[in-house]
Amino acid sequence: MPEMTQRQKYDLKRQLEELKRARGRHTELISLYVPPTKQIFDVNSYLKNEFSQSQNIKSKTTMKNVLSAIESIMSRLKQFKQAPPNGIVFFVGHKSSGADKTEMIAYVFEPPLPITTFLYRCDSSFYLEPLQAMLTEKEIYGLLLVDRRECTIGILKGNRIEMLKYMTSQVPGKHGRGGQSQRRFERLTEIAAHEWFVKCGEVASEIFQAEEEIQGILVGGPGPTKQYFVEENYLHYEVQDKIIDTFDTGYTDEFGLRELVSSASDTMTNLKISQEKKLMKRFLKEVTKTEGSLAIYGETHVRKALEMGIADILLLSEDLRRYRIKLLCNSCNYLEWRTIPEDDLEEYELPKCKKCDNSSIMEIEEKIDLIDELSDLAEKTGCKVEIISTGSEEGDSLFSAFDGIAGILRYVVDF
Ligand code: ZN
Repeated sequence: MPEMTQRQKYDLKRQLEELKRARGRHTELISLYVPPTKQIFDVNSYLKNEFSQSQNIKSKTTMKNVLSAIESIMSRLKQFKQAPPNGIVFFVGHKSSGADKTEMIAYVFEPPLPITTFLYRCDSSFYLEPLQAMLTEKEIYGLLLVDRRECTIGILKGNRIEMLKYMTSQVPGKHGRGGQSQRRFERLTEIAAHEWFVKCGEVASEIFQAEEEIQGILVGGPGPTKQYFVEENYLHYEVQDKIIDTFDTGYTDEFGLRELVSSASDTMTNLKISQEKKLMKRFLKEVTKTEGSLAIYGETHVRKALEMGIADILLLSEDLRRYRIKLLCNSCNYLEWRTIPEDDLEEYELPKCKKCDNSSIMEIEEKIDLIDELSDLAEKTGCKVEIISTGSEEGDSLFSAFDGIAGILRYVVDF
């Protein structure tokens, strides 16, 4: 199967977020998936049939909405002689937009991977599973941290770490009071430890066996306990077979999961997360330089560097969620661009035009996801773009300490 680029994945993810929010008041949102092999002629006949069937819908408003959605798809379909190489998807219908209002929406796009099955659905929400499946991460690893006190089980999907289970033991510390009872104490401790490892092994095996796509398992913890746990086969043999290696970590709790992935990614350099980390480490090293630093961050500086064509690498946080909007004054044609958070978009107070000074309110002419806008800018000058997830220490610091936007310059420039 062909791979999607980071950018295609990001765009698809954002598109799905938007489609997911759309709700019909009744079953009146139409999803149509046309695979590349399907004849447009056949799709048209299918829709004609749906059109006449839908005339039996009891509610007059719903019927009207469904019919107009089908008509809209049919008229858009006329632009195609045949389906594009990856097929085409339509999401059309009247979504409810507060109070008693509905609004007609229509999304038509060619997906980044081929559609395999023809599908028509009319429901109160859009049917998105086939597109969602394209985003399913293939790089999946089980994570297990174990020592005599704690056990944490997690999973690494692409670049995201999830904690699935955290347990603590009742195993007493290794040192007893000495004297006669010492040997008895040690024996009891070893029995308790054995029972604890059995429990950890059972719980971890059950969790990992339920995840079909796990490619391998990474085991971590401080000291030699983890090796002992692996060598004594406390895990189910099918799970045991998937162990890649053991790694030293200082912690065995949720934080330890990050440590585990971090030390594993030093040796397993083909991991997606290790490529992200490598770039972020390079950036952080540049940031700390007092002289001749190639690091830049924050939207203003990064934008300037991109416009000057001197940025080598652009680092964008996947969780940025900002828009670049183009504001236009209708009376004097003055326009300006602004960046605003996604959450502010809905209730954004449109500014007055500062050029013609006549209290004329500007309008949003265009809006584009900031990640898309900056990526386009970067690609024009041959700057590489890396979309960095939050979930690793480095990824989190990009998001929180560097405004989610950073870069590495080709050469040193004073701003
Ligand atoms: Zn104006």
